Amino acid sequence: MEIIPVPRRSLADFVAGKLAASILNGAIPTGSQLPPERELMKQLAVSRSTVREALKVLGDNHIIDARQGVGWFVRKIDQSNFARARELAQTEREEAPPLSRPASSDIPTGPRRLPVAPEKPLRIPNLRTDRLGTFDFISWWERKRVEEAKILIVGAGALGNEVIKNLALMGAGNLFILDFDTIEAANLSRSPLFRESDEGRRKAEVAAARVKELNPNIHVQYHHGDVTTQLGLGVVRRMDVIIGCLDNREARLALNRFAYWMKKPWVDGAIQELLGLVRVFIPGQGACFECTLNEQARRDLAVRYSCPLLARQNILLGKVPTTPTIASIIGAMQSQEALKLLHNMPVEPGKVVHFNGMINEMHTTSYNPRDDCESHWTYGEITELPASVHSTTLSDLLRIAAAELGPDTIIELDQELILSLKCSSCHTVEQILKPISEVSFESAHCPICGVMRETEMTHAITGSEPFLNRTLASVGVPPLHILRAFNAQEYRFYEMTGDLPEALHFSDFEESPPVRKDEIRQRIRLGETIRQEEIRINPARGKVILRD
Ligand SMILES: [Zn+2]
Ligand SMILES: [Zn+2]
Repeated sequence: MEIIPVPRRSLADFVAGKLAASILNGAIPTGSQLPPERELMKQLAVSRSTVREALKVLGDNHIIDARQGVGWFVRKIDQSNFARARELAQTEREEAPPLSRPASSDIPTGPRRLPVAPEKPLRIPNLRTDRLGTFDFISWWERKRVEEAKILIVGAGALGNEVIKNLALMGAGNLFILDFDTIEAANLSRSPLFRESDEGRRKAEVAAARVKELNPNIHVQYHHGDVTTQLGLGVVRRMDVIIGCLDNREARLALNRFAYWMKKPWVDGAIQELLGLVRVFIPGQGACFECTLNEQARRDLAVRYSCPLLARQNILLGKVPTTPTIASIIGAMQSQEALKLLHNMPVEPGKVVHFNGMINEMHTTSYNPRDDCESHWTYGEITELPASVHSTTLSDLLRIAAAELGPDTIIELDQELILSLKCSSCHTVEQILKPISEVSFESAHCPICGVMRETEMTHAITGSEPFLNRTLASVGVPPLHILRAFNAQEYRFYEMTGDLPEALHFSDFEESPPVRKDEIRQRIRLGETIRQEEIRINPARGKVILRD
């Protein structure tokens, strides 16, 4: 009996296989020059002799060519060398000798660097059954990252439609769509996800439903609400990337602060007529959105804040003329930036890309970060409370916070609470006790004499208020929000984690019926366990650290 020796593959064969796989999947394009030996040593974490041996294997198999004094170049892959290249690439898949994986930070990221993806396995997709199959040939696209991505899209107008559509087509696995608006006829000219029969329906809901049809493999969730007041920070905290498809400064400013507080990157887009811009903001890396505001913009905001009800009214009425073409261009760029962020590819945070469709000119400019920018603040350790905003009262939360911070603890609300409206003409006072988002501009006028009344409002709960028995939800705290407690020296952060099943599930329009929201609420109420004693017994209970 003849015993056939099992061929032992060397580390050099394995490295050659990795390079062959990258050549086959297009990560290293035909005709391009391979990175220098030094670079390959670093990327593949092997010695110079191994790299040389591997290059020789590829050269001997006519997959690469040496050019004297220049380096190695990738040959055209055709009938003559394809079989051998594939065979080598198989080696890479079958047996990986113990080899220290290069850290992802070692992979070159400069814009002119050859896109080598040594860790990307060769995958032959079935293009008949796999809707994302062709993306496997893209050098940088990583199926798992994209499928597991959690992306928040704020605004489902013209830009939002484009972004949501693109992300769904690319297979982005989990989309959370937020918008407070409803569909009207004028939206139909630039929103591919909307139909005439949708008029009057909620934009977020329709966009989510349509995009689920477009790609049933993704998971979606919509929320009909306003980003400035109705987005729980716990939602922001659990996202990988945020995309702002907004049309006003106030909403951008709110989103910018939330993203900064939660250390999340966000991609802003703006369009007007044939002009557009795209900006990536990463907390701590260059300018943030608020840094970009000039003095005039700051003054405008200050004026608006001095009459918050009017500001809200103006935002609701704000309309910017746009075309579906510029929305496609800018929405596509935003989607690409988001995908780059998901893949840890280089982006340019704190810069703006302007696109002028009138003359087809594109240019990038940097913003200067401002030292005095009020958005530059990130939350520390967050305590997860097994409690819901629907059943937790202001006094419950004050008690929990005071157990850690002492008797001088206050709760800072993110939304102004309107206490009363006072008429300076007829001197009548109306008690309101509603969050500003629930008070209309019209109702601020005196019903007797019609003049605009003075608003008495607060955002600090000190413990002396007569309404401490009110639930957090009733004073405008959104589900899964993270509240701040302060004792004039330090902050503590409390997340209403009991709202998680209701506030973040990515399961709208799934075939299996989602759990009814009121059932979840009921369960949380029954299982309510926030007691001061428990917090004292184990102060670390439920605490989580935000990842950097
Ligand atoms: Zn800033
Ligand atoms: Zn009056």
